[in-house]
Amino acid sequence: MNKKTVRDVDVKGKRVLVRVDFNVPLKDGVVADDRRIRAALPTIQYLLDHGAAVVLMSHLGRPKGKPRPELRMDPVADRLSELLGRPVTKLDDCVGVRVENAVNAMQPGDVILLENTRFKPGETKNDPLLAEGLARLGDIFVNDAFGAAHRAHASTVGVAHHLPAVAGLLMEKELAYLGRALADPERPFLAILGGAKISDKIGVIQNLMSRVDSLLVGGGMANTFFKAQGLNVGDSLVEEDALDTARDLLESAGDKLVLPVDCVVADRFDAEAQARVVPVDQVPDGWRILDIGPATVAHFSNRLAAAKTVVWNGPMGVFEFSRFAEGTFAIARALANLKDATTIIGGGDSAAAVEQSGLADKMSHISTGGGASLEFLEGKELPGVAALMDA
Ligand code: ADP
Ligand code: MG
Repeated sequence: MNKKTVRDVDVKGKRVLVRVDFNVPLKDGVVADDRRIRAALPTIQYLLDHGAAVVLMSHLGRPKGKPRPELRMDPVADRLSELLGRPVTKLDDCVGVRVENAVNAMQPGDVILLENTRFKPGETKNDPLLAEGLARLGDIFVNDAFGAAHRAHASTVGVAHHLPAVAGLLMEKELAYLGRALADPERPFLAILGGAKISDKIGVIQNLMSRVDSLLVGGGMANTFFKAQGLNVGDSLVEEDALDTARDLLESAGDKLVLPVDCVVADRFDAEAQARVVPVDQVPDGWRILDIGPATVAHFSNRLAAAKTVVWNGPMGVFEFSRFAEGTFAIARALANLKDATTIIGGGDSAAAVEQSGLADKMSHISTGGGASLEFLEGKELPGVAALMDA
């Protein structure tokens, strides 16, 4: 990685302002899924172990620039305190005199969590005054919020211009896995793309196409390719606007692009729908494709068996309905079975599906950033990363 990290700066006796991604789901006032909090622990622990006072900040949900009681960071502070096994002081604002006083009174080993940065209208506008206010709360800035790195906000980019700015350990890990896959993958390098829409991922397909040995396509996005090939897809989700793009991609990709050979069709979009397996050229009128079929699973698994690097983004079917989750889970199993391969999962729904499959710990890396991992795979420079000091 070409950016400085927490390891490259002396944090002893310093106040270290850390942007984390604590944008976690809440339910009944408690954290419903603490994966993102746990993912930030190595950086927080590293800083504490090296004698820093740690000031944490994050956004939570979309309060649109106003305080919203249900999006306060208190439940996050409670969970973090449990995980760290030490007190976490939660403040009721993220800038201002009272916050500065609290931060200036900190001792090494203390942890403060600031209030939701998106309670301030200046956060998403990257307002320079807010960035300056935040910068007064630290001697060093650490960005560990990979999941927010695709946004040029005051707490990700603005503040980085006022302080020595380095990457946290989670940020470093995310960039190392995704970066190596794009720049210097061990081959064969395969990508698996799925999910609902092709239009969300055209940039990813284009950027990956020139780098991968094969691109396996499943999920709803395959339908648009089928239609572009002249197949009848019944009532399946198809993006008419993307048909020309799909045709171009089919032509330029040649046999690098691997499409499903069979699919699971349903008579309606419903968890209890009737389901049937058919070849992709025999989708009955009035039915819709909701998963890849067993022959496709075998075909994809076969291709994957030799892979040394795999990047997977997008479920193979509507995995939220158990009847149509098998394709996605079978691909998760195929990745889990790979020996000596680097397997990287990107995308919020894909990460959730792999988690649900029970095979998460068999993957090399599950990205904590949905949108950020997609933008990275598109080959875009993430503004939150660009703002950090070069190594
Ligand atoms: P990620 O969040 O991993 O990037 P996406 O958001 O692109 O993934 O896609 C996930 C969604 O795609 C899921 O909600 C899933 O139900 C949907 N999906 C997958 N296959 C199909 C299909 N054949 N028809 C309709 N929706 C699908
Ligand atoms: Mg998604």
